[in-house]
Amino acid sequence: MRFLRDFNFKDKRVLVRVDFNVPLGDDGRVDEKEDWRLEAALPTIRYLLGQKAKIILLAHLGRPGGKIVESLRLNPVAQRLEELLGQPVVKLDDCLGGQVKERLKNIQAGEIFLLENLRFQAGEKNNQSDFAQQLAKLGEVYVNDAFGAAHRGHASIVGLPQYLPSCAGLLLEKEIKALSKILLQPVHPLVVIIGGVKISTKIKVIKNFLKQADDLLLGGALANTVIRAKGLAIGKSVVEEEVVDEVKKLELTDTKLHIPVDVVASINAQGQAPSRIMPVGQTEEKEMILDIGPDTIQLFNRIISQAKMVVWNGPMGVFEVAKFASGSRAVAQAVAQSPAFSVVGGGDTITLLEQLNLTNKIGHISTGGGAMLKFLAGEKLPGLEALE
Ligand code: ADP
Ligand code: MG
Repeated sequence: MRFLRDFNFKDKRVLVRVDFNVPLGDDGRVDEKEDWRLEAALPTIRYLLGQKAKIILLAHLGRPGGKIVESLRLNPVAQRLEELLGQPVVKLDDCLGGQVKERLKNIQAGEIFLLENLRFQAGEKNNQSDFAQQLAKLGEVYVNDAFGAAHRGHASIVGLPQYLPSCAGLLLEKEIKALSKILLQPVHPLVVIIGGVKISTKIKVIKNFLKQADDLLLGGALANTVIRAKGLAIGKSVVEEEVVDEVKKLELTDTKLHIPVDVVASINAQGQAPSRIMPVGQTEEKEMILDIGPDTIQLFNRIISQAKMVVWNGPMGVFEVAKFASGSRAVAQAVAQSPAFSVVGGGDTITLLEQLNLTNKIGHISTGGGAMLKFLAGEKLPGLEALE
């Protein structure tokens, strides 16, 4: 794999694939607590500016399904990027076509253009070669800095490097280094915390860390499926019935595996009804498990405080509602206070850290949720393979 330092970018048109997939607020703007993906791309953009490159940014937003969706245009992203960079970013209203070519014809060294949402074109997701080739014609070098999309086999990720000299950007390089440390040079005790919703998307990483980690802590809705697989009551909790059988095949009695010993439950997930703390398994039919309980927090704190390396993805409860945020906050504090090398990823998990102003206490904040989990499960990422 080649890196930025291996190229001379002076006066070159550089296509930079970035991950600007940020949530937009109700006002249609990028909230400053949600702009960490933009910030993460700044080092590469600044490096290329310093090299006097002509910068053409490629990005996607949301899931427009191969057609134009007005609310998913990249204008608010361009605006926030301008603010962060303190220099103009020219946003084009398309990513291909005569007008785009015309506008890019006279691009000057040190200028930054941002093309329209790539997923407005069906060719992006389907990795159509003619789409990739047309994009390739807009530049002379390709830089992939979109770690958050590296697990996708899309045209701008795996197609472009077939047609242009390519390398990894600074963010991609940093992600690979930090995550490889966990996989290839683990320092023990390695403690892995997994929460959030879908165990189906996280089961591979759970399996891998049941082998590699010293302690695996499960919380969030994902733990409900494990609690259910153990035959304990979960009431109306969010659960993935269709993976209960697969979860039963995990080594559920393994002493490394820690599921909540107590939980916070209520009949209302928005916090509009009383809630109560109970030992796991005592949830009544109408109740939902919405957070880990105080004994579990203590247990998790103790394990985290002894770690030499920590990986964390996924909140421990419905942290958006203050009543059910204690478990997630406690874990965030414990990870931040720990002297261990820590890696944290996942959109909601990072939002939580931002809210608590704890991001600067973390060893590495991964910009990839799905990509990070896939990498840490030991799987190959198409976007990284394409650069080899
Ligand atoms: P990340 O984005 O960090 O990878 P996920 O998207 O997997 O995390 O999960 C975050 C979501 O999980 C949050 O919206 C949170 O409300 C939800 N969640 C966590 N615990 C529960 C629970 N017990 N019941 C319902 N939802 C939960
Ligand atoms: Mg999420």
